[in-house]
Amino acid sequence: MRIVVTSSEAVPFAKTGGLADVATGLSRALAAADHEVTLVVPYYPRHVPVDLPCPEIGTTVTVRVGQKVVEAGLRRAELPDSRLRVILVDQPMYFDRPGLYTDQGHDYQDNCERFVFFSRAVLEAVARLDLRPDVIHVNDWQTSLLPLLLEVDYRHQPGLQSTGTVLTIHNLAFQGRFWKWDMLLTGLDWKHFNWRQLEFWGDINLLKSGIVTADLITTVSPTYAREICTTEFGCGLETALGHRGDDLVGILNGVDTDVWNPARDPRLARQYDISNVADGKAVCKTDLQRELGLPARHDAPLFGMISRMTEQKGFDLIAATAERHLQHDLQMVFLGTGQPHYENLVRDLANRYPDKVAAFVGFDEGLAHRIEAGADCYFMPSRFEPCGLNQMYSLIYGTVPVVNAVGGLADSVVDATPAAIADGSGNGFVLAEYSPEALITQVDRAVDLYRDSNTWQQIVRNGMGRDWSWNRSAARYVDVYCRAHGRHAVPHQDG
Ligand code: ADP
Repeated sequence: MRIVVTSSEAVPFAKTGGLADVATGLSRALAAADHEVTLVVPYYPRHVPVDLPCPEIGTTVTVRVGQKVVEAGLRRAELPDSRLRVILVDQPMYFDRPGLYTDQGHDYQDNCERFVFFSRAVLEAVARLDLRPDVIHVNDWQTSLLPLLLEVDYRHQPGLQSTGTVLTIHNLAFQGRFWKWDMLLTGLDWKHFNWRQLEFWGDINLLKSGIVTADLITTVSPTYAREICTTEFGCGLETALGHRGDDLVGILNGVDTDVWNPARDPRLARQYDISNVADGKAVCKTDLQRELGLPARHDAPLFGMISRMTEQKGFDLIAATAERHLQHDLQMVFLGTGQPHYENLVRDLANRYPDKVAAFVGFDEGLAHRIEAGADCYFMPSRFEPCGLNQMYSLIYGTVPVVNAVGGLADSVVDATPAAIADGSGNGFVLAEYSPEALITQVDRAVDLYRDSNTWQQIVRNGMGRDWSWNRSAARYVDVYCRAHGRHAVPHQDG
């Protein structure tokens, strides 16, 4: 198939979260399966690695945004070992900024304008480059207006008559909700400002526009697909989602195993796989303890957490229970940034328990890999978790996750009951409910089981034994693309 994937972030060009991993991981897997894939992302000059060439291709696109006529250059990039084609939309006024969406914790005031521009620029680029896609796959609110723009303004263009659209929701909590006068930026007629399309409680809601317009909607795990149709997890869009019925599909994200693979991870003190995991992890653990300034103790289980420090990730539970966990002979390491009170909490724990707790407030990809390899257990007691990547990284690296049973955590982590350990599925510790007591119960269990080395190693191997790569998920996306394309199929239209 000819597929265009577009996203506001993609590794290695720019990243704030899992969306960036997914955009590239899925696109690469599709390209590896012989599809013709183009990934279109903004060009953020302050984020693109200096050693990654992104030459201009000598083509520009011109987009009207409200009263402005804005021009953007197109650049291209190649990723090693991949046939994936990457196009970057270069518009410094919108994208040459310190942050992707925020600066010092505040959203950019013109975020609506920036991503309306980007969504139109993607369609212009698709037309200018004559990509003739069977499907355009948009992601999250930033590109969610594109399906409606396609219907209203681009459907007549050659090569776009039979293009299907797929929207993936990575996190329903972020919706791109702006005051209604930003309608003027979209270039769309006010008739689209109605509760069945763009309007949401008097504002415009870009994600909602995608939910009602895209041919198919996916979200990043089967459990999250069910959860978001409920008032508890639906963030006000549960009715719009519920109306889509079978058009809403949950597909668990894969992991980019070129990047997250302990057998080939250059950042580790020792590479390992399932056959020598105990020895490999022991070396990585000692190395990590040295890097963190913690005593090199093999007998004390080391718990890791790499995360945005927010309530979504269960930091309120961590705050409520950390002192209790520290009554055990264990160690903890926290890496992340987020709400200042949680950043202060982990710093304070590290100051008060220098032999037991290490805290790094910041973003450090290398340390993230070494924590996944060197830790024994991983905290991920999220309040909600569309898919979550770190629990899968943990499973691949033989680090046993402690999770709440929501979203993708419920779809990837199986509680290590004796029966589940024996049948090969038990790979982690699952909270019975979202509460401090439930987290304490699971940490107590983990500390207990850690002493039983044979059982522990079985749990580790159960996690490592499953295929977490993109191959399986990419095949499911292709099914969805075929369905979306099928809704517009015009025989022989695309030649
Ligand atoms: P999110 O909801 O933030 O997208 P995910 O688990 O889906 O959560 O993905 C988070 C991604 O960001 C993972 O690749 C994780 O390792 C990475 N990450 C988060 N915070 C940091 C940090 N401080 N340093 C390095 N990597 C981080």
